[in-house]
Amino acid sequence: MSDMLRSYIDGSWRTPGGTGTLLADATTGDEVARWSTEPVDAAAALEHARRVGAPALRELTFHQRAAALKSLAKHLSAHTDEFSELSTSTGATRRDSAVDVDGGIGVLFVYAAKGTRELPDAHYHVDGDEEQLGKGGTFVAQHGRTPLRGAAVQINAYNFPVWGMLEKLAPAFLAGVPSLVKPAARTAYLTELVFRRIIESGLVPEGSVQLLAGGVGDLLDRLNEQDTVAFTGSAPTAQRLRTHENLVRGSVRFNAEADSLNYAVLGPEATPGSPEFDLFVTQLVTEMTVKAGQKCTAIRRALVPSALLADVTAAVREELSTVTVGDPRQESVRMGPLVSLGQREEVLRSLKGLCEAGTPIFGDPERFEVTGADAERGAFLPPVLLRCEDPDRREPHEIEAFGPVSTLLPYDGTAERAAAYAARGAGSLVGSVVSNDEDFVREMVLATAPWHGRLHILDRDDAEESTGHGSPMPQLVHGRPGRAGGGEELGGVRSVLHYTQRTAIQGSPAKVRLFSGGS
Ligand code: NAP
Repeated sequence: MSDMLRSYIDGSWRTPGGTGTLLADATTGDEVARWSTEPVDAAAALEHARRVGAPALRELTFHQRAAALKSLAKHLSAHTDEFSELSTSTGATRRDSAVDVDGGIGVLFVYAAKGTRELPDAHYHVDGDEEQLGKGGTFVAQHGRTPLRGAAVQINAYNFPVWGMLEKLAPAFLAGVPSLVKPAARTAYLTELVFRRIIESGLVPEGSVQLLAGGVGDLLDRLNEQDTVAFTGSAPTAQRLRTHENLVRGSVRFNAEADSLNYAVLGPEATPGSPEFDLFVTQLVTEMTVKAGQKCTAIRRALVPSALLADVTAAVREELSTVTVGDPRQESVRMGPLVSLGQREEVLRSLKGLCEAGTPIFGDPERFEVTGADAERGAFLPPVLLRCEDPDRREPHEIEAFGPVSTLLPYDGTAERAAAYAARGAGSLVGSVVSNDEDFVREMVLATAPWHGRLHILDRDDAEESTGHGSPMPQLVHGRPGRAGGGEELGGVRSVLHYTQRTAIQGSPAKVRLFSGGS
């Protein structure tokens, strides 16, 4: 039997009792680790975070915390091979691991740099300018931000076991708030490995990071107004947690990153042979296949001018036909399995719903080739492209098949119509406008921005350097409206400040400047 995953609480590793449940390799079905659903000792974790981790972090200035993050990033970089190797058990190819592992470590580097460049070498942050409130100038005010005194509870989704942990931990750490990391069960073995390397490094103050590998027990009941919860996962879980009685009662800050039916639109001018036509096709195939489509930012709805639908269909099918599905350990394989057989079932269920409105035009989950692996034991699916002739149907705008699945939707070639369909996603993480027509781009961006946390304009001029539709960048906002969870993570220093309290300090100039440092 493999090892039971352990929690790191109150300065020591704790092995839960019982035999736990099996976590299987996505490709072979072999046992990788065991996971206990026994509740962790939430009381001890919180106490340790508040009494030990928080004061230790607050003793450091922003710059000192940034320096610790940089050292940690360097330390973890030396272990990327080990992380990537274990990452294959989640179904990740080398390309997928790079997104999760290197991407996660990259977030640490960015926050380290931003902390040094954009935050002061101080314990609090001055926010805006001093306001003169009296005619005589003896009474002024200044906003300032101080770190919250509680714990940052971080509940992560299964699809980014490394990036998910690090992108939440970095801003909280930089703000001076200790993290309680709750990984998703299915891929928690990879989170635990990275976490172990963090603790072994000795680079972070005791109590500043703890790992909760198991059921959360009464954790949420114990939170108070100084704690925060950052959640990533499905919309139903987000809804359940955000309405938790104790969180509502204590106005505990709750940030959710949830489902998202992201759109990409092809401009009406982008006929076959234009760079934008090719970019649209390649981007769609990339988004369908990276991490086998298990990305909250993947393109689920591809809006195509009706006049170009046949051409786009043919080009996407041609490119999808080159995708090899199979064991991610094999060089020739471009797309690995989903994380588990259970997740495959879930995608097939969603696919059935999508097929009420659309027709699969590429990929048959019953008949496809698997390279180098047993198709029965691994959670394999082919990329599945659907075409929905009636874009007014509800299904493509509401059903998220969290796998290698996208739907082509025709529109009449006007930005007005395309934007109306984009908004039917009821709030998404990201949208892509692939066009070289400035009027179309302007109209699409202005019309769809209120529904999106990020918009990506792709054309011949930026394609070479574009970081892509599906990559949340630590410098940029990730998250936002409606169905996408209503939250906001990342975004550079913005997300550090989420872990602080803004307070208006009023008084005489001399007293107020004790904090703002002005003269
Ligand atoms: P999930 O089933 O909602 O689980 C997410 C996390 O919540 C897991 O750690 C899970 O723990 C935990 N959880 C479940 N019930 C809980 C409860 N009652 N109390 C405390 N924690 C609880 O989601 P998932 O299947 O892991 O992830 C897939 C979904 O996440 C997709 O819908 C995708 O769109 C979304 N996602 C969104 C983003 C984003 O940034 N917006 C990023 C990635 C994924 P266990 O694993 O132990 O059950």
